[in-house]
Amino acid sequence: MAQIELNGVGLSYFTLKQETEALRDVRMTVEAGEFISIVGPSGCGKSTLLSLISGMMKPTRGTVAIDGTEVSGTSPKVGYMLQHDHLFEWRDVLSNLLVGAEVRKMDLRKARQRARELMGRYGLGDFAHHNPTQLSGGMRQRVALIRTLVTEPDILLLDEPFSALDYQTRLLLQDEIYRIIKDQGKTAILVTHDISEAISMADRVLVMSRRPGTISAVYPVRLGEGKGLTPWQKREAAGYHAYFNAIWRELGGHVHTVG
Ligand code: ADP
Repeated sequence: MAQIELNGVGLSYFTLKQETEALRDVRMTVEAGEFISIVGPSGCGKSTLLSLISGMMKPTRGTVAIDGTEVSGTSPKVGYMLQHDHLFEWRDVLSNLLVGAEVRKMDLRKARQRARELMGRYGLGDFAHHNPTQLSGGMRQRVALIRTLVTEPDILLLDEPFSALDYQTRLLLQDEIYRIIKDQGKTAILVTHDISEAISMADRVLVMSRRPGTISAVYPVRLGEGKGLTPWQKREAAGYHAYFNAIWRELGGHVHTVG
């Protein structure tokens, strides 16, 4: 049984005046521990898809299931990482790491212990009592990921988590976040408009078509298999450019031409 399963999923937004069909007949499965990237043109429904998997929204048609049970609301099994880190500037790093645990009413003593372990393991051990303003953009995103990991989700939904960062930081952080997610054995779904990021981080890339969004192509990524390559190394691997070109063309098929 797949960990995540979407069957014939459709989603329409309704306002008083109109219906916007954002997603149509989306079918996908994700296995436990898999890393999936989703690329597609802006407005094709990528964020909407993540909201459906997280249980924040209900599909208009079809079903979303996690571990064989239909999703009917938000679940502690699912954690989110967003483009903006949403750290509280008046709380220090350790205290920020406990926000999710507080909201979920978890045992705070245990959560603090877990937060300290994760900070130590992932290079934030000396920053427990720094404020977010004292950290670089890349470090802030690492704090945001660890804050999610403190709540012990099985599945991480990453909505453009690197897009607000400068190019160099983005490349370095992709390697770091990838290492943390693999090390923790989490399932991840990354939404991005960056083809190179999608290929270098994922086991499979799903390409979405223009609205109403649906999955138009799936690319299992096989780069240096068994060698445990980092995203950085995958970009250098033989075969990388073939994936890039294929996905570029697939996306290009959905770009409007003028004239
Ligand atoms: P993406 O993440 O791929 O950019 P979204 O999931 O944010 O796309 O949006 C998909 C489509 O649904 C877009 O056309 C967007 O304008 C529309 N949409 C998103 N949220 C709402 C909303 N709350 N009400 C009406 N339309 C919406």
